Amino acid sequence: MPLRTIHDLNAKGKRILLRVDFNVPFDTEGEISDDTRIREALPTIQLLLQKGAKIILISHLGRPEGKVVEELRLDKVAKCLEMLMRKPIKKLNESIGEEVQKQVDQMQEGEIILLENIRFHAEEEKNDPRFIQQLAVLGDIFVNDGFGVSHRAHASSYGLGNIMSSYAGLLIEKEVNALTKLMENPEKPFTLIMGGAKIKDKLGILEKFIEKADFFLIGGGIANTFLSAKGIKVGNSLCEKDMADRAQEIEKKFEKNPEKFLLPVDATVAKEPGETVETQVVTIENVTDDMKIFDIGPQTIEKYCEIIRASKTIFWNGPMGLTEFTPFQNGTRDIATAIAQTACTSVIGGGDSSEIIKHLGFTDEQFSHISTGGGASLEFLSGKELPGLKVLYG
Ligand code: ADP
Ligand code: MG
Repeated sequence: MPLRTIHDLNAKGKRILLRVDFNVPFDTEGEISDDTRIREALPTIQLLLQKGAKIILISHLGRPEGKVVEELRLDKVAKCLEMLMRKPIKKLNESIGEEVQKQVDQMQEGEIILLENIRFHAEEEKNDPRFIQQLAVLGDIFVNDGFGVSHRAHASSYGLGNIMSSYAGLLIEKEVNALTKLMENPEKPFTLIMGGAKIKDKLGILEKFIEKADFFLIGGGIANTFLSAKGIKVGNSLCEKDMADRAQEIEKKFEKNPEKFLLPVDATVAKEPGETVETQVVTIENVTDDMKIFDIGPQTIEKYCEIIRASKTIFWNGPMGLTEFTPFQNGTRDIATAIAQTACTSVIGGGDSSEIIKHLGFTDEQFSHISTGGGASLEFLSGKELPGLKVLYG
């Protein structure tokens, strides 16, 4: 069943409720530190404007948990969007109610309104029917382009999609195409690179791709859980001992071809995290009790990069180390460099992964696709049905 997209939509004069994901990160001075998510929504906004729509934008920001949190108002997001669009954006201080209705009723073709942070209402995350109605009356058509929240059954994504005439925006279309290609016909050899912190979030994907991928390169905190499950001592490192059984089960699938499932052979270790701590490179059998593994080591990097260079398709999720600190960024930087230098199809997913890659100076153009969805892209690739997308098919 195809995705209903805005390509075929007659939007002339229509009030379009457009769900976007403007959940951008802020720096310590309270300024937007990465506007990628806002920029990623521009093609959909532009196309709808060209079609003569009136656009009412809906987004969340952070976790206000159903209350008004002043720092989480969308005013700075509106300013940023105004700069990018070179066009005034009318930012409202509410997302439902009389005043909002009045503003919407006065809209002309080509105008844009941004509603207030939708998560100021607890009803949003509860997918509350009355709240959905209060939003729905503001528009004629619903367009969802918030890929990053499509794995949640919330009012402004799933709820509206369910009851309104609804379409997918261009970002959702792009994400779905890139991720579907990985699942359905990846050019071989296909390598999956997995790192990051919580193995629970990653097992679904690993299990899903056991038959599909040719190589698995494991790093980050999750590698420790695999190593420990094999009886290798990981000292004081991040390690989820309660996941040992499932880790072992996965590794067992590679008993006959262990060359397909690679764990680190060496590591950069330190006693504690920090910018100026003393670090050491050790082979993986020599991690002492007082040490923590914070990055993959140079031999591991070399091995992994060799496989990357021979791959035709790569999916990468999760940093190779504790990348919040410079001494532990080498693995992630070298892996990213190797991927950027190949001509293969490369897809990167995961909130922290894309953030660190940008932070290290890599650009969108160096990879085939950097997913804007953290949890959403992982759930999509695990084969789960995403509620926000489900309502856009057929
Ligand atoms: P993503 O958001 O891309 O899916 P995760 O959230 O799974 O990635 O993982 C990112 C986190 O994993 C980062 O905070 C990073 O510091 C942490 N991490 C990676 N390797 C290690 C490690 N060896 N020890 C502790 N934390 C790690
Ligand atoms: Mg994360």
